[in-house]
Amino acid sequence: MAAMYNKIVILTGAGISAESGIKTFRDADGLWENEPVEAVATPEGFERDPERVIAFYDERRAGLKKAEPNAAHHALVKLEEKFGDNFLLITQNVDDLHQRAGSKRIIPMHGELLKIRCLGPQEHIIPCAENQPKECPECGAKMRPHIVWFGEIPFEMERIQKALTKCDLFAYIGTSGVVYPAAGFRQMAKLSGAHVVCLNLEEVGGGYTDEFIQGKAGEVVPKWVALRVNPVNRGSPSTPQHSSPLSQKQRLF
Ligand code: NAD
Repeated sequence: MAAMYNKIVILTGAGISAESGIKTFRDADGLWENEPVEAVATPEGFERDPERVIAFYDERRAGLKKAEPNAAHHALVKLEEKFGDNFLLITQNVDDLHQRAGSKRIIPMHGELLKIRCLGPQEHIIPCAENQPKECPECGAKMRPHIVWFGEIPFEMERIQKALTKCDLFAYIGTSGVVYPAAGFRQMAKLSGAHVVCLNLEEVGGGYTDEFIQGKAGEVVPKWVALRVNPVNRGSPSTPQHSSPLSQKQRLF
């Protein structure tokens, strides 16, 4: 019988999108799509050569159009449907595959490839499906990709921390666990009493992890989700602990 949990936080990384054809970067010696990470994913790189950085993200947008969500993205939507407001998906990915699969309770903590932001005082954020325009259509200021680069603070950290300290199950999927602050989430969840699970191709993360499930995300995530969605006895009706209505106070996020 699978253990039952009430409040679930999931963290995903580039590995969950690998089977959709989007390249990870830790696997290739600090290169991301053959570009040094410092050149294309730091504020200094953008200051030195904005055209190179803009061209890099324009290419990533073009590549994203050809990619489709895979079985792991779809499985996490089922988990969200089951747990509702007691589920939160935090992703380090800048692709939109979780959103296209149907994830709604999601924090893209490192930004979104399909958005750009102006460098004017109002920091207008606008959708961008293809090539980035040079100037903000709202105020004329220069624009940048709406991506959190190394050295910048990820989005919605306060909400993330709150969720990590309240969840009773935390799973990190397809992430090398070396980019902070996300690399510290397992520790925060564990020290707050959560059961911590890692699903990845290779064993990563070191301590603060109770369970490691090895395999491709597209294979292991749907199986793992099936156990969470129907924990008592897969295939037969069940009355999971979390099916009882939770009071507003108990709600997680
Ligand atoms: P990472 O590249 O550092 O690590 C990827 C991890 O996924 C590795 O541990 C690898 O073994 C594992 N992996 C590879 N294929 C897998 C599969 N099929 N199934 C399960 N696991 C698999 O990525 P990261 O930890 O997310 O951190 C790096 C940063 O890269 C993030 O900040 C992110 O913003 C950025 N990034 C994002 C994308 C994207 O949006 N898809 C792509 C590349 C990089």
